[in-house]
Amino acid sequence: MFGRMAPRAPVDNTRYYEMLGVSKTATTEEIKKAYKRLALRLHPDKNPDPNTQEKFKELTVAYEVLSDPEKRRMYDELGEEGLKEGGGMSGFRDPMDIFEAMFGGLGGRSSRGPRKTEDVVHALRVSLEDLYNGKTTKLAIQRKRVCATCNGSGASRDAPASASFACRTCHGNGVEVRLRQLAPGMVQQIQSVCSECEGSGRSVPRKYQCTTCRGKRVVEDRAVIEVVVEKGMSHGQKIVFRGEADEEPGVQPGDVIVVLQQKPHAVFQRQGSTLLMEQSIRLVDALCGVALAVKTLDNRTLLIKSRPGEVIDGAVPLKTVAGEGMPIYRRSTQHGVLIVKFKIEYPHYVDPAHHAALETILGQQRTEPMLDGTDAAEVEEHELIDFDESQLRAGAENGAREAYESDDDDGGTPGMPGGAQRVSCAQQ
Ligand SMILES: [Zn+2]
Ligand SMILES: [Zn+2]
Repeated sequence: MFGRMAPRAPVDNTRYYEMLGVSKTATTEEIKKAYKRLALRLHPDKNPDPNTQEKFKELTVAYEVLSDPEKRRMYDELGEEGLKEGGGMSGFRDPMDIFEAMFGGLGGRSSRGPRKTEDVVHALRVSLEDLYNGKTTKLAIQRKRVCATCNGSGASRDAPASASFACRTCHGNGVEVRLRQLAPGMVQQIQSVCSECEGSGRSVPRKYQCTTCRGKRVVEDRAVIEVVVEKGMSHGQKIVFRGEADEEPGVQPGDVIVVLQQKPHAVFQRQGSTLLMEQSIRLVDALCGVALAVKTLDNRTLLIKSRPGEVIDGAVPLKTVAGEGMPIYRRSTQHGVLIVKFKIEYPHYVDPAHHAALETILGQQRTEPMLDGTDAAEVEEHELIDFDESQLRAGAENGAREAYESDDDDGGTPGMPGGAQRVSCAQQ
């Protein structure tokens, strides 16, 4: 900050030019050429030597500064130091990114792939049966492909080889910059994709246009892809078709991604390789044994039975059937388990005349109440009444009203809703 006020040592604003081997008056085009020549020689893919790698990084920094008019002006005026102070060194990109953006890398090896068009995602609704048995479905897709007539140049064969088809509206940048006046002296800069060339930076005059794509370089294409839903696949699983999305000249096509969406099933719920089903049974079945017919997802009929004499316990009502769950993905001869969750329906009434017989069958005597020696005449007897939800609500409302009234009596804040704590205070 204060450095600017102090007398300044002469700034070094020539090193970057020397590194690139260009004069201080070099054009951006000359700088770019010089960088390309040197960068190809020093590229880390060709030179594992750390010194050379460091040089490559420095060279790329020099290039990034000198190829940017604003940063170059700052460097010429203030040198490297000034660039750092002025924030011109912030936001530097990885040298490899810059190199690859310019020259598309050295081919292969790079982990940063070249630019791709956008992936396209399709949802595919499938039934649980489809996921169990596997299924092949055809899916029609609409995408852009590079025009085969002109190989994506957009120009007809008669077009002169020397003609430049850079878009005149955006000067080949693919981006239009417009200025909009918000108020006198206040201008907003608006960037948008060039409407003339749709961002491609190329625009072929009508007389030279390829007749198939009318100069657009791509054509609409309808294709049918075959989606193989494999046994044991899951809801949300992606099936990827590499490179089947839009094509664009010079850009890798994105992928078509099919995402499976499983429809709910009337009988089974799925969790991984486990299938779960719920089954209501009557008390007599729980006590005397269940025998249950179940239609499987591949349309077989199972007869599921409990062991002779076994009781289905309402407290632990889960039983499993081995090997009748979902097939395991890519190991589809193996299956998970089927879990059956029983819900026991009790009878609402048992004739008292049968109670003694039930006691005999169950081998249990009914439990007598423990009156702790209280005289039978003094015991207060109640008959149980069926519970219903509204009784609980009425009880809660009574409590709240009591608390509200006690607030008023205290001269407390009127209108305060009675919380649980206030309810207990009011009752003391
Ligand atoms: Zn064409
Ligand atoms: Zn344009």
